[in-house]
Amino acid sequence: MFMSIWNKKEIKREIQELNKDIKTDILIIGAGITGMTTAYFLKDNDICIVDANKIGHGVTLNTTAKINYFQERIYTKISTIRNKEIATKYLKSQLETIKNIKEIIKKENIDCDLKRVDSYVFANTLSEVEPLKKEIEFLKENNIEVNDKKLPSKITQYSSYCVSDTYIFNPIKYLNGIYNVLKENDINIYENTKIIKIEKLNNYYICHTNKYSIKTKKVVLACHYPYFVLPLLLPLKSHIEKSYMVISKVKVDGEFTCISSSSPTYSTRFYQDGDNIYQICLAESHNTSVKQNDSYHFQRVKEIFKLKDSDIVMTYSNVDIMTPDHMPYIGILKENMYIACGYNTWGMTNGVLASKIISDMILNKENEYAEVFNPNRINLSNLISLPSIILGQIKSFLGPKLNKNKSWYSNKVSFINKNGKNLAIYKDENGFKHIIHNKCPHFGCSLIFNEEEKTWDCPCHSSRFDIDGKCIKGPSNYDISYKE
Ligand SMILES: Cc1cc2nc3c(=O)[nH]c(=O)nc-3n(C[C@H](O)[C@H](O)[C@H](O)COP(=O)(O)OP(=O)(O)OC[C@H]3O[C@@H](n4cnc5c(N)ncnc54)[C@H](O)[C@@H]3O)c2cc1C
Repeated sequence: MFMSIWNKKEIKREIQELNKDIKTDILIIGAGITGMTTAYFLKDNDICIVDANKIGHGVTLNTTAKINYFQERIYTKISTIRNKEIATKYLKSQLETIKNIKEIIKKENIDCDLKRVDSYVFANTLSEVEPLKKEIEFLKENNIEVNDKKLPSKITQYSSYCVSDTYIFNPIKYLNGIYNVLKENDINIYENTKIIKIEKLNNYYICHTNKYSIKTKKVVLACHYPYFVLPLLLPLKSHIEKSYMVISKVKVDGEFTCISSSSPTYSTRFYQDGDNIYQICLAESHNTSVKQNDSYHFQRVKEIFKLKDSDIVMTYSNVDIMTPDHMPYIGILKENMYIACGYNTWGMTNGVLASKIISDMILNKENEYAEVFNPNRINLSNLISLPSIILGQIKSFLGPKLNKNKSWYSNKVSFINKNGKNLAIYKDENGFKHIIHNKCPHFGCSLIFNEEEKTWDCPCHSSRFDIDGKCIKGPSNYDISYKE
């Protein structure tokens, strides 16, 4: 459960938890790629970072970690939804960020397996061939060298294009490096420290954990899904997409990455760890409100990439926040409160970009991208997508309530009502029954059992609980344990 190809390289360190009330100038909530890199840019200031879990154990842990500007057909999509000028600016922001990432890694001498590779975008359906040509025209107009080159993979493809100035790395090794720099600068990082409430008191924010509080002048929400501040009703301005990854041992490093130009998303990259070479295969992405049979989705990934069971070493799923205009929400949410989320599965570049924009804002420096990513923007795309987002929320709220005993569940999973309480039961290999309340404390949604990773998953906002109801991933603040 929650294994990742990256955390094999985690550094051993003593975990420091918050154990008293403290005061700081800037509090960064979340120690994923966004929070840690923001801390890096602000390291000469009075800052502090907290994470509900361990450093890098959010979405960053299960990313495929491509550092790439060739992102499906994103530029033509942004051109249509917003305009070409903004799409060009987005491209420029990604190119500059890739340069920034390389500079940080070089300057701090971070050993994170950074490697330059060819990156392909390919049409995996016939109908994608023409739209993909338009994306290539856009890139060429912006002086990007793109080659019409066959993707070296067995995967079904109708056309494919390649750029060569893109990278891959190990994100946990990158965060280890940033951690070392922050520690050299005496920055306090508190793990296992979850903020559950933020209050405004005069010129300060008071950020509460369940025991202590942090008084801060400025707060950066780098926590992926900042549920506790209802940032302009984020649930109505985004949806959550889940993807499935299967890691397979291979003999040869393909030395490329690829992704399909539009849905269905097929994506892959390779990772060499000592003598072992792995291929990370991703597919079956879907809005969490619609499909959930995890075992089926993992099986599909194996079929799509023609993987042999004997080569498979790990399987896991991951979620990211998708925005209607395909651009992240980065910047000032309200006075002295900053937000960074909605990376549309391109958070390696966008997380570092957000760190730069937000740190520049805090340090009163100009940043040419501040306006285009304004988190308070409302445009036509928000309004057009609103009905389907609301419908999705209703579906994920009601679906599992109405249809608990999904046909795909094995006989190990059952649901009962006892003394007016809806309970969900998982019977383990030894026949022991693990009983939980079937209600996510965050929004009240009923849960879906993920037979593959042995977790109860919330289809509404992707909280996850172990078989005994312990919350292992937010946005829920609470466990759903049940005692008879
Ligand atoms: C399947 C998949 C593949 C992807 N592949 C790529 C890729 O190849 N390239 C790319 O650029 N992007 C990719 N992405 C996107 C990228 O991984 C994410 O956008 C990025 O990791 C998000 O980083 P983050 O720091 O914002 O969030 P996270 O890594 O989730 O960090 C947020 C942190 O905040 C903490 N937290 C949450 N709530 C609280 C709280 N209340 N109090 C304290 N701490 C809290 C969490 O514990 C977590 O550690 C992919 C995403 C998915 C889903």
